[in-house]
Amino acid sequence: MALDAETKRIVSLFELSDDWLNRAVGEYISQAEEGLRSDGTSLSQIPTYVTAVPNGKEKGVYLAVDLGGTNFRVCSVRLNGDTTFNLTYNKVAVPKELMTAKKAEDLFAFLAKQIETFLHEHHKDEFEGVRRRTRSTRKGQKDEDIFHLGFTFSYPVKQLAINKGTLMRWTKGFDIPDAIGKDVCALLQTELDKLHLPVRVAALVNDTVGTLLARSYTSSGHSETLVGAIFGTGTNGAYVEKLSNIKKPIEGEYDASTGKMILNTEWGSFDNQLNILPSTTWDTDLDRESVNPGFHVFEKRVSGMYLGEIVRRSILEMVQNEQLSLFKDVNSSSNDWRSTTSISPQSGLMQLWGLDSSVLSVAASDNTPELSVLRQELEDNLDIYSPSLEDAQAFKAIADAVGRRAARLAAVPIAGVLLQSGQLNDPDSDVIDIGVDGSLVEHYPFFRDMMYEALAAVDGIGPDGAKRIRIGIAKDGSGVGAALIALVAAKME
Ligand code: ADP
Repeated sequence: MALDAETKRIVSLFELSDDWLNRAVGEYISQAEEGLRSDGTSLSQIPTYVTAVPNGKEKGVYLAVDLGGTNFRVCSVRLNGDTTFNLTYNKVAVPKELMTAKKAEDLFAFLAKQIETFLHEHHKDEFEGVRRRTRSTRKGQKDEDIFHLGFTFSYPVKQLAINKGTLMRWTKGFDIPDAIGKDVCALLQTELDKLHLPVRVAALVNDTVGTLLARSYTSSGHSETLVGAIFGTGTNGAYVEKLSNIKKPIEGEYDASTGKMILNTEWGSFDNQLNILPSTTWDTDLDRESVNPGFHVFEKRVSGMYLGEIVRRSILEMVQNEQLSLFKDVNSSSNDWRSTTSISPQSGLMQLWGLDSSVLSVAASDNTPELSVLRQELEDNLDIYSPSLEDAQAFKAIADAVGRRAARLAAVPIAGVLLQSGQLNDPDSDVIDIGVDGSLVEHYPFFRDMMYEALAAVDGIGPDGAKRIRIGIAKDGSGVGAALIALVAAKME
């Protein structure tokens, strides 16, 4: 593919050498160790109070709920005890007015009501049976009658126990000041009790921990899963750490007998101080114009929410460059890019956040000589009028470079955790399992292959070590993972 000099220059700015990867992994390990010693560092390493990893033999029916940005998902998971499961779910949109309700009670009463509806729809027999027995014995519910529930709540909380965490602040459009500082599990439990539902909020769940547990349940038979990671809208990871390595105090109660605990790294904030991360002018501008400048800087180079925007900014710079013929109408004689460009002013390329990362997947998967699929996508999705082969080649080269940089960056925390854990030196772990979830890692072509390639280039892992790492998708991670944490928590009661 013959690329013009400017495209080549931009592509080169997104390249990360093997030497750089090694330095970045070293930096990750040192920031991770700092996070094990104290709070307030860029890698928070938050204790989750989950101290056991499933082995696939777990059994029972558990409830899992997930309050996402716009939807509330209620599901029940039947764990069959042989690494398989059956999952049933309902999804409802959270009414806008409840996202900014005056009282926390209003939102949580709505959530409890959805759980009641779900039980009526999908577990009528068990549910009615419990109510009848409860009424006839007048002794209240027996423990086996109770549904244990895992509550996936992906907003910043200070976790104090496996089923207790106080809300620090709302994100993703919610704003109910009354809930700040309150235990979100207790808020939900109170509303469930008002409806006399046989449900106990057993666990507060972070989605990365859910991914780790779900993967460990379904892939058992090999070694336990070491890391759970999300590469979707954002990125984050959780891993299994030895309790003896956690030097900072862990408040609250937990079962220490396993000698380990899952930590939520919050690696989206890795290197907020920019000691090592690459920064093109587009990265810097994107950060400055984001809602949280200076924070989540690793995430801003790796995850789905940002990759399209990085590509958009670099392509727009080419469009605005009057010396270049790319993305211009060749029949125009004007010198002003605005009147010569072949791009509609309404195009997503012209709007902040206007380019979805899924377009990068289209670019990466089109390897036809004429790039006909990508050209059609540029025309349909981005209102670029009759893009030439050269336009599409430039777009593809830059989009591929941004995608490849993200995948190589994604390997950094994985390599860091792996080296820090010493598992590669453990003769008993032939396979090291990593569970992943999120549209980017699931749908971006060769994302995992590029991660493996980067892992193989890290000293201490090498090609032989990389062959022992298995990065697998954790299907239905949030539901199954939350159910598994509810199970762990129920056992601790
Ligand atoms: P979430 O992380 O919010 O649970 P997802 O895992 O579906 O949700 O991730 C959504 C993000 O993934 C969005 O930023 C979207 O732009 C991006 N995305 C969706 N599809 C693709 C794709 N095919 N290729 C690359 N990125 C994608």
